[in-house]
Amino acid sequence: MEYNSIQELLELALAEETTIAEIVLKVEAEESELSEADVKARMLENLKVMQKSIKAGREKKIESAGGLVGEEAAKMSDYIAGRPGLLYLQAVTDALAVAEVNAGMGKIVAGPTAGSSGIVPAVVVATGEQLGKSDEEMMMSLFTASGLGYVVSRKATLAGAAGGCQAECGVGSAMAAGAAVELHGGTPEMVVHAFALALKNLLGLVCDPVAGLVEVPCVKRNGFSASHGLTAAAMALAGIKSVIPPDEVVLAMTEIGDALPASLKETSKGGLAVTPTGEKIACRLRK
Ligand code: SF4
Repeated sequence: MEYNSIQELLELALAEETTIAEIVLKVEAEESELSEADVKARMLENLKVMQKSIKAGREKKIESAGGLVGEEAAKMSDYIAGRPGLLYLQAVTDALAVAEVNAGMGKIVAGPTAGSSGIVPAVVVATGEQLGKSDEEMMMSLFTASGLGYVVSRKATLAGAAGGCQAECGVGSAMAAGAAVELHGGTPEMVVHAFALALKNLLGLVCDPVAGLVEVPCVKRNGFSASHGLTAAAMALAGIKSVIPPDEVVLAMTEIGDALPASLKETSKGGLAVTPTGEKIACRLRK
């Protein structure tokens, strides 16, 4: 069994009358020559790292390399403390938390990349907690996210240096959207449409980190991308479909990434990085 496109992944799930997560798990077990139980145990380890990074970012100020970020998650935690039940805000907080841990060189799961590592954990854990899901169920939804990301890694890119931030936070948001649909018990079609809806709306997002550090705009962009993924999941669960099929959205991402100038692909020579404030920060940090 194998899949090289999101359409093929969907068709496998439909043919087997199962979930996308189960298909991704089966393929991973076959390819790695491990038992499904071993593959699941490895994914559970990833979930544990994600949960720990969320906790670490929520609870304490992070010392980042450039000192440009580090207390966003703590501020959001304080803000939402009196506003329980707001799934979006919990996911935003947790995405900030993990992205800050990454900026502070802490341990994260780089899915799809380190710079966009806050989005999938935040959406999966916040949705899972809200729905009362077990760790096993949250872990299975990570297979959904990873199957979708795997296709992008084969057909396009997951690197900001090659495709801009659409390939990092855009894909992270789309992977998270698919995982959230699966946690809600949505159909495989809903999963792939959530993916397409989220990615479509982040096409063209440039990579322009201030001073070359994965701090500004990266950390806050993780927070926004988490809420974006939840919106896409809600639309798909409501029955809204992407007119452009998921694989064609990935193709469009590649074309847009190729068309972006090098200044907007992680070189810090364009966009926010060369604003007066961005330049000033870069100059200060060089000294
Ligand atoms: S702006 Fe660039 S470095 Fe920052 S998260 Fe996006 S792709 Fe990664």
